[in-house]
Amino acid sequence: MLSILRSLVQEVNGARDLQEALDIIVSRVQNAMGTEVCSVYLLDPASNRYILMATEGLYREAVGQVSLAYSEGLIGLVGSREEPINLEDAPSHPRYRYFPETGEERFRSFLGVPIIHHRRVLGVLVVQQRESSRCFDEGEEAFLVTVSAQLAGVIAHSEATGAISGLSLTGEEAKDVCFSGVPGAPGVAIGQGVVVYPSADLDVVPEKQTDDIDYELAQFGKAVTAVREDIERVASRLAAQLRPEEQALFEVYLRMLGDNALPGEVVNRIREGLWAPGALKQVVQQYIRHFEMMDDHYLRERAVDIRDLGRRLLAHLQEGEQKDVNYPERTVLVSEELTPAMLGEVPKGQLVGLVSVRGSSNSHVAILARAMGVPTVMGLVDIPVNQLDGKELVVDGFDGQIFASPSADLRAVYQEICDEEDELVKGLEALRDKPCETTDGHRVSLLVNTGLMTDVVRSLSHGAEGIGLYRTEVPFMIKDRFPSEQEQREYYREQLEAFAPNPVTMRTLDIGGDKALTYFPIQEENPFLGWRGIRVTLDHPEIFLVQVRAMLKASEGLNNLQIMLPMISNISEVEESLHLIYRVYHEVREEGYEIHMPKVGVMVEVPAAVYQVRELADRVDFLSVGSNDLTQYLLAVDRNNPRVAQLYHSYHPAVLQALVRIAHDAHAVGKPVSICGELAGDPGGAALLMAMGYDALSMNAASLPKVKSVIRSISRSWAIQLLEDVLLLDSPHVIKSCVDLSLRNAGFGRYLRPGRSAAAIAEQAV
Ligand code: PEP
Ligand code: MG
Repeated sequence: MLSILRSLVQEVNGARDLQEALDIIVSRVQNAMGTEVCSVYLLDPASNRYILMATEGLYREAVGQVSLAYSEGLIGLVGSREEPINLEDAPSHPRYRYFPETGEERFRSFLGVPIIHHRRVLGVLVVQQRESSRCFDEGEEAFLVTVSAQLAGVIAHSEATGAISGLSLTGEEAKDVCFSGVPGAPGVAIGQGVVVYPSADLDVVPEKQTDDIDYELAQFGKAVTAVREDIERVASRLAAQLRPEEQALFEVYLRMLGDNALPGEVVNRIREGLWAPGALKQVVQQYIRHFEMMDDHYLRERAVDIRDLGRRLLAHLQEGEQKDVNYPERTVLVSEELTPAMLGEVPKGQLVGLVSVRGSSNSHVAILARAMGVPTVMGLVDIPVNQLDGKELVVDGFDGQIFASPSADLRAVYQEICDEEDELVKGLEALRDKPCETTDGHRVSLLVNTGLMTDVVRSLSHGAEGIGLYRTEVPFMIKDRFPSEQEQREYYREQLEAFAPNPVTMRTLDIGGDKALTYFPIQEENPFLGWRGIRVTLDHPEIFLVQVRAMLKASEGLNNLQIMLPMISNISEVEESLHLIYRVYHEVREEGYEIHMPKVGVMVEVPAAVYQVRELADRVDFLSVGSNDLTQYLLAVDRNNPRVAQLYHSYHPAVLQALVRIAHDAHAVGKPVSICGELAGDPGGAALLMAMGYDALSMNAASLPKVKSVIRSISRSWAIQLLEDVLLLDSPHVIKSCVDLSLRNAGFGRYLRPGRSAAAIAEQAV
């Protein structure tokens, strides 16, 4: 069964469109189960009806013609109950509904299973049999459920691909095709999609057409020659160390690169009008599918060689291609996985929106996007990325949705929201030099989180009182090797100078988890529980010491440096770090630099630290809560995994209780405590944190004016009452609604989301 399933999934994955995928499914399942009928009904979102999309065994003419209302017939019953229905004599069931067009009356046994993807019923997969004596057994039922679960993602993806190219299930024109992910950075953008992909990843190459076939052929020809030379070079270098049969492997590679093999097929597709990387992708994927379906283990393994060859060819093609990515005036960057480097490649002023398949609202790229004020949607798992290249897109970073090919009405409604948002931001500029103080005189410092120099410029214009978190890994991420001490010193000086004499809190390198350096790869099964933050740098003092030395030298004459340690889970980590910092401090002074010992603080972002706040605070000058990680670790929810993004909730009662406790315990031993997680930049979250007693809130620059406006308009006693009320509640959703409602009643509804809800907009536009 497993091998049938595997080849079925391979074949379906390779289908050109939804119809071909469904035809393959019904014919293979009918064959594998030895049944007389196998059919697929899909739920058409536009009409809310199940449409017979493919069949093997019923009359073919019925395909596309027969449809059932949402709760009609046995199909509707399977869909609404969301479980299999297995009947020996279907016609005697009260919900049986007979369609003469299908010729269904001959069949008595019926087994229907729902096709469900991310809680959404996409359709129903059915097998039928003539004689009633054949009741489908448990094994068959389990097989069909497995097939359906495996194929649900592929069907969702093909459905979305069809919709993007402008067709609904019924073949009618599809407008305002909406995809839902999670909000990454607030705001709305209208622009043109540009699909970018990490180098040498065939899976994410878009299948674009070209107008310059000769150019593509020439590029591909050069890539083949270059790869051939690479392989010959490797082969001759290893010749002395390999046995003849091992050397023969290189011969296989070179044969695959012969004109009549893989390159010949790629050339044919380029001649049909595809650009070279897209043609290469199609041919390589076809070869891989072919090899993977083979029964012979040795031949199956050859798929790996083809993939490798494909990657090598692509890498050479991309070398030539890098220069000419054409970014339109209003670029919406779309990728399987966005990286900070990709953001950096878009010319200044042209990046209006971001869309990423992987990641969620707490991924680092989303944090960067918020800092840069670029509306972003993350975790769009079912989106056919490649189809979005060149398409007009609306990015709704408030609701976490994107719309492809928007109608004029929808565009107009979103344009209105963009204008409202601009107005709001302009209105807040006047607050820049006003203190962040409640109506009853409670003062709280508003700081910014930075990483790039652009953040600094924005922060200053938004009236930040200092930097609460400088993510030093950002300058490390945009290089292709560790930056030298001198380079680091320059980066750090820029940040320190921009804010002097106000404090600038620099966090020591926090790599690992989701923050990867291409030149220092960390491969782990469970990276968020692995080698991360201080654990890496204490194991590599040569990195830590250079960084601290660069920070200290950069602070000369400014004396506004504070150093902060990430991912602390043990007191010994603080003690070891302090020991190293003191050592560098003395060394740098001995070298003649006039520096002061900086304040040192600890991040509270691991549950263990919550329970050792007093012991930690005794050893350092300040604490700062990293609520992004603290939420992830308290709730056991990966902050980057879109599948569980709905469970990641900073308003979870457990998170709020932990935050209350941290503030209380830090103050009990007389140490200041701030917070630098994203919750601080949420107007409701900021009000609660201020009520808990946090001395400073550090957030992305774009959120700062809104938070200041809210805090200046409320009293601390109002916020304390709100905090007391929500601490009595036990559901994160109810807490969030309660906070939102209080803000709305206090006149801050416009900060939660300008304009109407997306649902209302889409409804109006249809
Ligand atoms: C946090 O974890 O809340 C934090 C501020 O650090 P980062 O998001 O960079 O992990
Ligand atoms: Mg963190």
